[in-house]
Amino acid sequence: MMNRRGLIGASLVGSAMLGAKASAAEGGVKLDGPCVISTWDFGVAANQAAWAVLSKGGRALDAVEAGARVPEQDLKNHSVGRAGYPDRDGHVSLDACIMDELGNCGAVAALEHIAHPISVARKVMEKTPHVMLVGAGALQFALEQGFPREELLTPESRIAWEAWKKDAKYEPKANSEVGDYGKTSGQLGTPGGANNHDTIGMLAIDAKGNIAGACTTSGMAWKMRGRVGDSPIIGAGLYVDNEVGGATSTGVGEEVIRNVGSFLVVELMRQGRSPEAACREAVERILKKKPNAKEFQVGFLAVNKQGEVGAWAIQSGFSYALCDGKKQDLLLPGKATYQLTS
Ligand code: ASP
Repeated sequence: MMNRRGLIGASLVGSAMLGAKASAAEGGVKLDGPCVISTWDFGVAANQAAWAVLSKGGRALDAVEAGARVPEQDLKNHSVGRAGYPDRDGHVSLDACIMDELGNCGAVAALEHIAHPISVARKVMEKTPHVMLVGAGALQFALEQGFPREELLTPESRIAWEAWKKDAKYEPKANSEVGDYGKTSGQLGTPGGANNHDTIGMLAIDAKGNIAGACTTSGMAWKMRGRVGDSPIIGAGLYVDNEVGGATSTGVGEEVIRNVGSFLVVELMRQGRSPEAACREAVERILKKKPNAKEFQVGFLAVNKQGEVGAWAIQSGFSYALCDGKKQDLLLPGKATYQLTS
C-alpha cells in the first residue's frame, strides 16, 4: 500500500495533495469559484457532501456542516464523531466548532452521546447568546434541540480501548497510511499501530464568495476525561475572516492552542502571506517555542479569499482533500491512491 509520503511523490498534482514540505516549491494550489477543502483522506468523501450543497448555489455554512457530518457518521473513522476512540475511562467525548462569513460562531466541547457535534455547534451559534457549551450543559442543550441520545462507543472502539488499557500509554500518533482510518480494531488497538488522533477541518467558499468553516473531532484517543483540544476553540482549531480567508488545524491540539494557530494563519494571510507561507510560519512558530513538538504532528490548512489553498505540517504525511467545479478528488477503492479528475 502506498503511504501518504509515497502518494505525494507519485501524484501528478503533488502540489494539490501536498504533504506540506513536499510542496514547498509549488506554493499551494488555486481553486476557482465555489470550492471546499478539508483535512486528511476522509476529507474526500466529506468534500463530496459539501460540494452537493455548493454546486447548487448553496451557502458555504450549509456546505461545511453537511461535509463535516460525513466522517462524524462514518463507523470506520475512529477520530471523528460516532465510533471515535474514547478517553482513557471509556467515554467518547466530542469537540466541534463552526464559523460563518459574518463572524458568527458556535462550539461544543466534551460533548457525549450526540453523534453530530457539528450540528449542535451550529445550534449554539444560531439559538443561543453564547459561543461554546461544554460537557453536561452541551448535552442538555442538544437533547432540548431534539438530537437523539446515543451510545457512541462502538464494539470496535471498545475492543481498541480494551487493548490500549493493557499498556495504557498515552502516545499521540498520526500519519499512518492512507485509509488507516478504516482499519480494524485489532490493528488500531495495537500500541505502535495506526494513528490515534485526527480531525476533519473543512473550509468552503460559496458562489457569493463567502467563506465558512467547520472542525470536528473525538480528539486524542485515550485522553484524560475532560480534556479538550484545539478543534472546538475558535481561533485555535478554526478561524474564518470573510475579508481574508480561513484556516483550520489538525494534530496535537495543545500545541495549536498555545499558539492560537488558525487565527495566526489568517492574520498572516491578512499581512500578505500566501496560505502556504502562512501555514508554514505558524508551524515554525510552534517549533521555535517548543522544539520537541517536532515529535508530534500538527498541520494547518488554509484558503484565502482568492481561492488559493495551502497547507504545512510539522511532519510529512499530512494530506488534504480539495474540490471545485473543475476538479473532484477521488479515493480509488482498493488502490489506496488519490486522483483528481476533471
Ligand atoms: N486536534 C485534535 C485534538 O487535539 C486531534 C487531531 O486533529 O489530530 O483534539
